[in-house]
Amino acid sequence: MKAVRFHAHGGAEKLNYEEAPEPKILLPTDAIIRLKAAAINRIDLSIRRGLGSMEVTLPHIPGSDGAGIVSEVGAHVNHIKAGDAVCLYPAISCRQCEFCVTDREILCQELRVLGAREHGTYAEYVRLPALNCFPVPVGLSFEEAAGFPLSYVTAWRMLVTNARLKPGEHVLILGVGGGVASAALQIAACLGSHIIVTSSNDEKLALAGNLGAEHGINYRNTDFSRKVRDLTGKRGVDVVLDCVGGDNWPRSLASLAKGGRLVTCGAMAGANPRTDMRRIFWNHLRIFGSTLGSRKEFRQLLNFLEASRTKPIIDRVFPLREAYAAQQRLEEGKQFGKVILSIDG
Ligand SMILES: [Zn+2]
Repeated sequence: MKAVRFHAHGGAEKLNYEEAPEPKILLPTDAIIRLKAAAINRIDLSIRRGLGSMEVTLPHIPGSDGAGIVSEVGAHVNHIKAGDAVCLYPAISCRQCEFCVTDREILCQELRVLGAREHGTYAEYVRLPALNCFPVPVGLSFEEAAGFPLSYVTAWRMLVTNARLKPGEHVLILGVGGGVASAALQIAACLGSHIIVTSSNDEKLALAGNLGAEHGINYRNTDFSRKVRDLTGKRGVDVVLDCVGGDNWPRSLASLAKGGRLVTCGAMAGANPRTDMRRIFWNHLRIFGSTLGSRKEFRQLLNFLEASRTKPIIDRVFPLREAYAAQQRLEEGKQFGKVILSIDG
């Protein structure tokens, strides 16, 4: 089959479009999917560069997000069959530990994510447990169905499960344009919250305005925590979604109303920011760390997408062979929404 692989860690030029062995059914609970689309996530860039704790066996096929058609299933699989259109829940866990049996499989010691410890979706075929395959939500194309799993379930867990964002509350979303932040914008807009977003790019702020953000702050020339205070009559916001960290972190805390909630899933701008702890206990703030989301949350998200007729924001679609250009677009921070790989063959 055709796939995009890297044989050594490094820049986007390490991604080769080439022949790779086709995956085979290994367990009676496996499924093989003929992929029609995949999506780029920031984790793909970290794994390619060899950053973090995720060691991969080289050559490696990246990609955590995908959608396609079931090609083959193992003998014990009944809920899907060859020919079904499916999207993929990207986390694979032991299904037996204390976390797995209480719908918290993302805490499982043996957690493997497609494209991280498993070969991923930048390919014509992928193997994964059949239980990770869900019907494509009604009305979504394969490209849209590949565009939501990782970033939207991450945003869903952060805003709905952790922060419990309610209609009428005020939420601040940092760095709108990124996958999780733009997913959060759509979810928060559907929930009926008042939304403030930040970006260094005025075009992205304007796009966010079209999607339901009431205010956009360009953080290059404005201290966003002061601006948030101005915009909320000095009260602050109920929820901040900060996937950025670094110098933004103290400002995120300073943007919160008393009793506010901060949710975080990333530290691109720095993992060791200064924190004034007094602000946390005086103001009864709550901080939630989060990555990904559970299978149960994925199911909730599928229902939400169908019921609200929400379609993930697609930034641009590249053919599979141009995966390097697709990753570069993310690396340069040019995107608004998901960058997709179209896989036909
Ligand atoms: Zn487990």
